[in-house]
Formats: sequence, C-alpha cells, structure tokens
Amino acid sequence: MELRDCAPATVAVHAGERRRERPFTPTVGPIYASNTFVAPDPEEMDAILGGSLEGYTYTRHHNPTVAAFEEAVALLEGAEAARAYASGMAALAAALLGAGVAPGDRVLLSRDLYGATVSLVRDVFGRFGVEAVTADLTDPSAYEPLLERHRPRAVVAETLSNPLLRVVDVGALASAAHAHGAQLIVDNTFTTPLLCRPLELGADLVVHSATKYLGGHGDATGGVVVGPRERIRDLYARQKLLGDNLGPFEAWLLHRGLKTLPLRFQRQSASAWRLAQELRDSGRFRRVVHPLLPDHPDAERVRRLYPGRLPGAVVSVDLGCDREGVFRFLRALRLVVPATTVGDVYTLCLYPWIASHRSLPPEEREAMGVTEGLVRFAVGLEEPGDLLADILQAAEQI
Ligand code: PLP
Repeated sequence: MELRDCAPATVAVHAGERRRERPFTPTVGPIYASNTFVAPDPEEMDAILGGSLEGYTYTRHHNPTVAAFEEAVALLEGAEAARAYASGMAALAAALLGAGVAPGDRVLLSRDLYGATVSLVRDVFGRFGVEAVTADLTDPSAYEPLLERHRPRAVVAETLSNPLLRVVDVGALASAAHAHGAQLIVDNTFTTPLLCRPLELGADLVVHSATKYLGGHGDATGGVVVGPRERIRDLYARQKLLGDNLGPFEAWLLHRGLKTLPLRFQRQSASAWRLAQELRDSGRFRRVVHPLLPDHPDAERVRRLYPGRLPGAVVSVDLGCDREGVFRFLRALRLVVPATTVGDVYTLCLYPWIASHRSLPPEEREAMGVTEGLVRFAVGLEEPGDLLADILQAAEQI
C-alpha cells in the first residue's frame, strides 16, 4: 500500500520515517546532529555535490532529519517536494525569489496578509526595486481588473486571513493570476493541508509557518515551501547560498508535532466553532467573528469552498471596549494565555490593535474591521467549556 494513497491521519504518523539503516531501523527517525557527512567514496561525493546523486555532504545543504520532515509535509500537501526553512518568514522570502520576483516587478498582496509578509515585500524587496501593491483579494470579481492594472510577477494570498478570517477562493485566484502571467504563492498556515491543498487548486508554491499548526506545540520555529520538484530544486540551489535552512533539532520537533496534526486540528477547529456559537449566544460581545457564523462576510464562500468542513481553529471577538478595557480583560484571563501565534496546545489570545496591526494608522485598522476592542483566540486543546468560563469571567472585569 502506497502512503500517498492513505488518509492524512495515516500519512501524518508514518511519512518520512523508517528509512532503512543497517543493522537496525529505528521506528522514529534520529536527530542527525552532524554538520558534515562522510563520503565513503570520492566518486560518490562528486556525484552528490554535482547534483546527479541524492545524498548528504553538509547540513547547510541538506540533512536527513530535515529531509524526513520535508517528505512528510510534501506528502500531506499532495506535493512532489518541499524545502524547509528556519522560519515562516524565511520560507516566504524563498518563495518570492522562487517565483522569480526581480527588480522592476510588482507583487500583488492580499490586504489581509500577515503584516510581516507585507513589510517583507515593501521594505526588503522594495530596496531592490520591487513594488508591493495591496488589494482586497476576497472578491473574485476584482481579480481581473487588479491583475490587468498591476501586471504583477507574483500574487501572495492567505487561505484564511488574520484576525478577521476572510476567505480567499484559491482556485479562482490561481486561474486569474495565470491568465495574466503571474505566479500564485499561497500561505496555507491557518488552514493546514487538512482543510486546503492549494497546489491542487492551481497555486504555484505553498508556504507554511511550521511554527504554528504543523509543529503544534509552541516549541520550535520553522517554515516550509512546497511545490513541483523542479521548483523546489531551484529553491534548494538558492538555499545553499542564503543559508536560511532549518536545523535538525527543530526539524525533529516539528516532525514529531506533525504526527498529531490531524487530531489536534480537528479538535481545535471543533472547539473554536463551539466557542464561537456560545460566545455569540452569550450576548456579551459586540461582534463574534467566525466564518461559519451567518453574519461573516464570507459565510457563503466558506460553505461553498469547504463544504461540511470546519474552517480553522481561530475565533475573534470584539469586546466592545477601548484599549484599557482590553488590557483589563487580558490581565483577568486565568487559562487563556495572552501571547501571539496560533496552533499551540494552549489557547492563546492576541490583541491585534497593539500587535499584528500596530504599524497601521488607527483609522486604517478601523476601516479594515480591526477595531480597538477586537481580540483573537487561537484555540488549543483544552476543554471548550473551561475556555468559555474563563473568557466570560474575564469579560466581567472589563
Ligand atoms: N504566515 C502567517 C500566516 C503567520 O501568521 C506568520 C507568523 O505569525 C508567518 C507567516 C511567519 O512565520 P514565522 O513566525 O514562523 O516566521
């Protein structure tokens, strides 16, 4: 039976493991904490360094522990290959270079992207003559005119945005981008390959902050780019020079975390949906944001794109107060952890006004719907009833 034909839960626990070793094969792959690898024969070394033979010479180039993690992510994404990076940001930079972004090019960015992704294109690539253009990419009817006007080299979108959980139609965006000669890079961090496999919908490269759901335990930072084998080979050539590779210890932790991704993501998504409904029913909050709630602007789209599925494990709430009130709420939380990031075993609460959206002028934040009272919960593995009780008691302290 081929692993690639199995369900995600099976792929997650077996992929990348049990490479044949002599005289024994460990069930869990070891951490190859070695900078270099002995070449038994100089001909072999020559072939590996020349690229005609797969193998290992130097960990900055490649490492078997990292390769096992890459293999597992590629299989889960239904991709031919994957390349791991030191962080999600390093993976995004690699994907932009891999899409051929060069001086004089424009990159079209979804307005709701993770702020650092926008800054990466604007401030780092911008210094080399690349222009960042941001636009609302949730409305498919806007794709044609936007692409016609800006003629970008690459388009970058997230499947589910932060913190308002706006939903992008990846298939429609990929077709429109290709019709205008642009490459589509999709950041699949918030949906994971369990909910969305963007390559199958036409994306050219897919990026993950593995720091989040893939690793899942809040103890390792990493990133991955997945795509067709030739494209990943091209990234590999550049990574050897940039040295933005993932280390073997982190790769091992992320790979261990990946094995429980299907279980964790299912449970976290179910808890988020239950919390969203109960927080709304409490009548205590100005607004509860979850893509399945009927007042969400993309409620119809998410049901069409992900029929019968739970769209991720994040729920945002407008507490209906100012910054001081939100601070009182955050101080009163007993179980929910006030910290950035998503995808941990603990439920985390982020205040976008002072964190992810801090660099935008307040009027712009308000216009986007990121209001002063808005907080985001990245739901963990606790019992949802306990989380609800904690959030409601903290809301009493506002
Ligand atoms: N993409 C998304 C959607 C994110 O939320 C983040 C980090 O919060 C990143 C990319 C960057 O990932 P990392 O922190 O691993 O560099």
